[in-house]
Amino acid sequence: MSNPLIVGIDLGTTNSLVAVAKEGVPLILTDIKSGETLLPSVVYFPFDGTAPVVGSSAKELLATEPSRTVYSTKRLMGKGYDDVKGETANLSYELSTERTDVATIRLGDNLVTAPEVAALVLRALKDRAEASLGETVTKAVITVPAYFNDAQRQATKDAGEIAGLEVVRIVNEPTAASLAYGLQNKKSATIAVYDLGGGTFDVSLLRLEDGVFDVLATNGDTHLGGDDFDELLSDRLLSEIGVTEPSPELRATVRVAAEAAKRHLSDAAQTDVHVSLGDNGAFVRTVTKSEFESLISPLVERTLAPCRQALTDAGLTATEIDEVVLVGGSTRVPAVRQAVQTLFGKAPHTDVNPDEVVALGAAVQADILSSGRTDLLLLDVTPLSLGIETMGGATEKLLFRNAKIPSSAKEEFTTSVDGQTVVLLHVVQGEREMATDNRSLARIELRGIPPMPAGLPKIEVTFFLDMNGILRVTATETRSGAKTDVRIKPTYGLAEGEVRRMVRDSFVNADEDFKARMLADMRNEADSAILGATKLLAGYGNDIPDADRIGVETALAEMKNARDNAPDHSTVREKMDALDMAGRSLAEAAMSSVARSIVGGKTLSEAAQVLEERIKEERPE
Ligand code: AMP
Repeated sequence: MSNPLIVGIDLGTTNSLVAVAKEGVPLILTDIKSGETLLPSVVYFPFDGTAPVVGSSAKELLATEPSRTVYSTKRLMGKGYDDVKGETANLSYELSTERTDVATIRLGDNLVTAPEVAALVLRALKDRAEASLGETVTKAVITVPAYFNDAQRQATKDAGEIAGLEVVRIVNEPTAASLAYGLQNKKSATIAVYDLGGGTFDVSLLRLEDGVFDVLATNGDTHLGGDDFDELLSDRLLSEIGVTEPSPELRATVRVAAEAAKRHLSDAAQTDVHVSLGDNGAFVRTVTKSEFESLISPLVERTLAPCRQALTDAGLTATEIDEVVLVGGSTRVPAVRQAVQTLFGKAPHTDVNPDEVVALGAAVQADILSSGRTDLLLLDVTPLSLGIETMGGATEKLLFRNAKIPSSAKEEFTTSVDGQTVVLLHVVQGEREMATDNRSLARIELRGIPPMPAGLPKIEVTFFLDMNGILRVTATETRSGAKTDVRIKPTYGLAEGEVRRMVRDSFVNADEDFKARMLADMRNEADSAILGATKLLAGYGNDIPDADRIGVETALAEMKNARDNAPDHSTVREKMDALDMAGRSLAEAAMSSVARSIVGGKTLSEAAQVLEERIKEERPE
């Protein structure tokens, strides 16, 4: 059976693309009628309620139908009204105040959410792919900026589902761009991805290690791009044309001419601008490359500050960057390329079309996912289980091998010693039952627990493994609120071979591991039984006949011995049962002082537990 077809989609602010890999080579899919590769991320909603229009035809309606033509929805994804109301000035359509939980656009009497608009763009890409490939497309990899948070990623996924696409992976745009250049085939590298589009600028610094990309830092300016270059040039041209109050039409015409000139100047030393002034003839002017470059130089300079900041945030110097990747149409401007090269001290990769590089990389990722290639460890599941070492040295797994990313899990732990104020959590990775056989990831200290009897504190440990494979561990003592929060990179430096070995070892040693695990858990139980019996003996030992007390003391000594020396869990269990039997009258004596009625025929450990509960209830929180 052939592999499932998965397409790669770059869902952009201005334009979107769809690509697919054929025999390992990624290709952009074009519109079969127009031959276009870029699909403008613009949707026009007709007054009469007929089907929305997506792409170039919608973009053409922007000038005449501004309030019903929706663009830049990427800026609204995963946001509520309060987050986006600042964008109102930049948008020609109306944002609805009725729904505050999700950014919503008002189209007359109708409302449409940002993910629904994005879904229409995705649907058009799906249709395009199906027409071009001649088969049904149901699965996609979609890219998002590295700085997108969970809500924004989720909104993108939602848009995919609305469009009838199963989003098998959300990939960071800079990672996709790196994949398009095949950088994943390097063992390790530090990569700078400089992305200057029409209206946004992003820089991302990535660390690649054994096929895993990790985002070290991101920075940028959400309102800076090639459109600003156009505006500067058109303002200059308009002032030369000398019309005091230019009409919107003249402004638009000059703007188009300025953008065309800008594009020409990426390949030519000069270009001529023609603007028809109707009855007043035409405005004709030559623009040289050097004039254009000095005009835009402050804007180019403005992109460098975020680059420097990202380097600082990642604790890197420019010389530590091994690879520079350019993304976005505006990186075709030679002055931009030069500035990037000067900053990072090395020539950027420019072979792949900067408009297409992200979509092509998404297709590479899609290809890896559909082919099930194992030579590339590009995370979409966690390759090894992640857990915490328990008191007895066993591994308590919180996230299991092959858990989908992102993933989270929660588990409650407690203390083992009275008055314990610090808990040491050992985070481990691997399949083995005993923590020492697994890989140690981190030792975390949770401090500031108020002194309480052993077993009383409630320590909630949560694991959150994010899209980039970054594990975040938080430990909270829920009674006092003491909290600690650590980020760990579980896959850092882990090669695929190592992953396979760790999984294999867990099968080979399964039997022994299981026994060791049983013993470790039994010892934990034994510890609390020993602690309980010791406390009860101290408190109520004198209230029972001597023979009974000696019986408990003997059983306790044997239990301690078994806990430390028994080779298997069943011996410890026997001694624990014996201790419970011997301790029956002690348990009852203890209970009589508090609540004999609740105890009935309880065993020693149960009685100790009931007592603990009492203490807990009496203790002010
Ligand atoms: P993107 O958002 O990545 O599609 O980039 C679009 C921006 O790239 C727009 O501002 C375009 O004017 C600009 N652009 C496209 N081609 C060129 C070119 N050859 N030279 C300069 N800018 C370009």
